[in-house]
Amino acid sequence: MNAHWNAAVRLRCPACGHGRLYAQLFDMHPACLACGQTFVMGDGDFVGGVYLNYGVVAITSFILFAMMEQAGTYTVGQEVGYLMTFVVLFPLLTVRHTRAFFLATVYSTGTLPRPPGDHRPAP
Ligand SMILES: [Zn+2]
Repeated sequence: MNAHWNAAVRLRCPACGHGRLYAQLFDMHPACLACGQTFVMGDGDFVGGVYLNYGVVAITSFILFAMMEQAGTYTVGQEVGYLMTFVVLFPLLTVRHTRAFFLATVYSTGTLPRPPGDHRPAP
């Protein structure tokens, strides 16, 4: 597995793999505390992580709906109840990782702003 993706799984800095991405539950540090790599892109750039999360939820919900329909043991009310619960809880549980994967993706393209004085080779 690519080192950037490995860091994303562990919610660590994609540059050094050591610094934590999050200061609190959903608040990301502006930069890595270990190496100084900035985590902040332009305004609204982290919408990409939200889009990624939305796509995962939409596809997974459709698959779950199809599986429940195929099973034929659930009423429409039960299906709606289960899926509504899923689409509320699943994004809350996965948004930290989808943002981390989006950050790792942007970092791997070399377009994430580097800290001043950082002369390491591009990823
Ligand atoms: Zn770092």
